[in-house]
Amino acid sequence: PAARVRDMGTSIFTEMTELARRTGAVNLGQGVPELASPDALLKDVAEAVLSGNNQYPPAVGFPALREAVAEHQLRRYGLDYNPAGEVLITTGATEALASALLALCDPGDEVLAFDPCYDAYAADARLAGARLVAVPLVSDGDGFVLDADALRAAVTARTRVLVLNTPHNPTGKVFTAEELAAIAEIAQEHSLTVVTDEVYEHLVYNGVAHLPIASLPGMRERTLTISSAGKTFSVTGWKIGWVSGPALLVAAVAAAKQFLTYASGTPYQEALARALGSVEEWAADLRETLRHNRNLLSEGLTRAGLRPYRADAGYFLQADVRPWGYADGVTFCRELPERAGVVAIPTSAFYESADAPVWLVRFSFCKREESIRTAVEQLITVR
Ligand code: PMP
Ligand code: GLN
Repeated sequence: PAARVRDMGTSIFTEMTELARRTGAVNLGQGVPELASPDALLKDVAEAVLSGNNQYPPAVGFPALREAVAEHQLRRYGLDYNPAGEVLITTGATEALASALLALCDPGDEVLAFDPCYDAYAADARLAGARLVAVPLVSDGDGFVLDADALRAAVTARTRVLVLNTPHNPTGKVFTAEELAAIAEIAQEHSLTVVTDEVYEHLVYNGVAHLPIASLPGMRERTLTISSAGKTFSVTGWKIGWVSGPALLVAAVAAAKQFLTYASGTPYQEALARALGSVEEWAADLRETLRHNRNLLSEGLTRAGLRPYRADAGYFLQADVRPWGYADGVTFCRELPERAGVVAIPTSAFYESADAPVWLVRFSFCKREESIRTAVEQLITVR
């Protein structure tokens, strides 16, 4: 195999879901939702398939979905994009991220991201011949905060792109307005393009607000904003995502994307165009479910003697496993299926740099209430 894939191995998500399958453990590892999707959306997809809308859509995406994305960005965030040229539909956020880094990086370039980070960022940088430079978020023992000085210090003459992820996987952090302003300042100072992964944009709890960095002064022109239907509608298998940004940047992403997949999922795109138009009510219910699940899991982990961190958003929370006598999350996660019938993922798997808080473990709560209750009871029993 070529050098660019030689050490990639199997993703941690595949590995841990396989472990859950093999051991019959409750899978709180991979963020695979066990949550409902809107009935109308499912019916619309079935109808689109049966009515024969099954051929290639335009490579840049089904027009009605591009319009719905543009309208969504305007309605929610006051961000104005032209659906013809400033919005691109992709095969999930995953392809949007890969296409963006392929489109923006030359061999030898550097891509900044924050540690911990979603595993695709480093892999995509590498596919583009670039290198991910990770700046650790600082843990205060409960949540994670930006170290703006460390970010500024990490910029070099080769830095081209900064990848941001808010709301954040794995920590459940929502970057604050102050943190985003500091990132925006650095991006402008050094002419960086920001690629922002906002797939959890609707899944924010505790009254904190998600703010897209593209909406900050001077940022629209240098930002590609990525989101996806997977989390918002609990349809992770459909793999429909999208990018919005200035025409020049979106055209570059589209150039790469057309030779990765050309296009994807016509009936899904058609149905999602309608669903995205009325997402607010659905998202409010989903948030309520997830907030409830998060609380259940967090309280359960506490009762099991572990130390959960705060999570304001998304599908995941971290817990400190040292109270169980483990020095590191890898050993904990390796023994947990056998000991307690639960699968979780060591947070260190999300770190590029060496100084990971190795005692943290990520638990997913995008599950049925019953799954969380079962997992928690088993953890309490073996405590
Ligand atoms: N970014 C983040 C932060 C994620 O958690 C995920 C979920 N797998 C993705 C991107 C991928 O999104 P998609 O399934 O739409 O490709
Ligand atoms: N986003 C999901 C997670 O963090 C998994 C995505 C994947 O399997 N690639 O668990």
